[in-house]
Amino acid sequence: MNVNDTEVIFSILAKHGYERTEKMEEADVIMANTCSVRDNAEQRIWGRIDCFNQARKHRPGVVIGIVGCMAERLKEALLDSHKVDLVAGPDAYRRLPELLEAVSPGHPQIDVMLSREETYADITPVRLDKNGVSAFISIMRGCNNVCSYCVVPYTRGAERSRDPRTIVMEACDLFSKGYREVVLLGQNVDSYLWKDEAGQVNFAALLRMVAEVSPELRVRFSTSNPQDISDEVIYTMSEYDNICKHIHLPVQSGSNVMLEKMRRRYTREWYLQRVAKIREVLPDCGLTTDVIAGFCGETEQDHRDTLSLFEEVCFDSAFMFYYSERPGTLAARKYADDVDIETKTRRLNEIIALQGRCSLRSYTADIGKTFRVLVEGPSKKSPDELCGRASNNKMCVFPDRKHKAGDYVDVRVLSCSSATLICELAE
Ligand code: SAH
Ligand code: SF4
Repeated sequence: MNVNDTEVIFSILAKHGYERTEKMEEADVIMANTCSVRDNAEQRIWGRIDCFNQARKHRPGVVIGIVGCMAERLKEALLDSHKVDLVAGPDAYRRLPELLEAVSPGHPQIDVMLSREETYADITPVRLDKNGVSAFISIMRGCNNVCSYCVVPYTRGAERSRDPRTIVMEACDLFSKGYREVVLLGQNVDSYLWKDEAGQVNFAALLRMVAEVSPELRVRFSTSNPQDISDEVIYTMSEYDNICKHIHLPVQSGSNVMLEKMRRRYTREWYLQRVAKIREVLPDCGLTTDVIAGFCGETEQDHRDTLSLFEEVCFDSAFMFYYSERPGTLAARKYADDVDIETKTRRLNEIIALQGRCSLRSYTADIGKTFRVLVEGPSKKSPDELCGRASNNKMCVFPDRKHKAGDYVDVRVLSCSSATLICELAE
């Protein structure tokens, strides 16, 4: 999501004559696009701000800006640090040229207004990906859920969906430029809804519209919410070969007590029933998740419930975190962050170890299968090998000198690690 926002920012600045540089020593403006989801993300940014200030010592006049969620969360406090000249929240990017213009010594600029309408629908992002094959498209912004641990609704504001025609136009444009995959992004894609005089478009309908751009254009999406993912979406996925069979379905916890405290609006049983439905309709669908260990009041039994859910579902992979209290959230106001750091770390490590075994089991189950892969480029390890993802999102590597990024290739799986399928060409 942040990468896509950075692409939007580059587009806005490019229209006003700014050029992008990879070298900090050359920059007149240095900006960090920030995340506030966990405290360590913010701590890293403070480190970066210090590093920007070091650079400024050699080149006075350089403007330092902080944009995105951390700008939104800390607002003036960032200016009070006297280390930055510009603070802009996620809905203020259109004003960046104006704000940059107004910055002068002793006159820092700030805009952290959130909007109910801004979707940057008319802005064509400047693509930052290196391979020219896969691109992100934001289909909505903000979030209307209030998961008690989460800062996103406060930093990104209310949910708003983007006009589907602009989404399809962006997908067509990317396809004509050689892209072969789009990833539709939103905090809760299943609640995408666009209404106008012509009628309404829900997420399933949007998926169809984008899938119909071309059978050669793959469609992926993230993030699905267990409460909201509908049968219609699951069946729509089954109707189109080019809608990739992968769902990222964050569970957060396997304990109903925790889920309720987290305000996740579903139970463990509901989650498992959604997984069962996905596997019934889409037997080869990849499934990944997010989880938080050590949320407020989490007992050993709650933790064991998470482990048993992981064992039962056997995800292909997971993003695993321990709980990090975020100021201003419901949990910070209502519940004590009372699981000590040793226990959080131990529980997280237990989940990571279990997931490692599950990943290996899931990848091993693909040995002998044939997958159609979209080539992304040479593998990290060898120029004689290519890599690309199967529909289920698993990374495949295979020796091949004939094909190039953007080609579709059939490969057969020979062996695996817990994160990669080792393959050969199937022709
Ligand atoms: N909208 C997505 C997730 C957005 S944040 C969803 O609803 O699933 C990405 C992930 O960060 C979350 O899924 C959660 O696992 C993690 N996360 C969010 N807030 C957190 C916190 N306070 N501490 C630890 N992890 C957190
Ligand atoms: Fe945060 Fe919940 Fe919204 Fe995801 S759905 S962004 S976890 S509030």
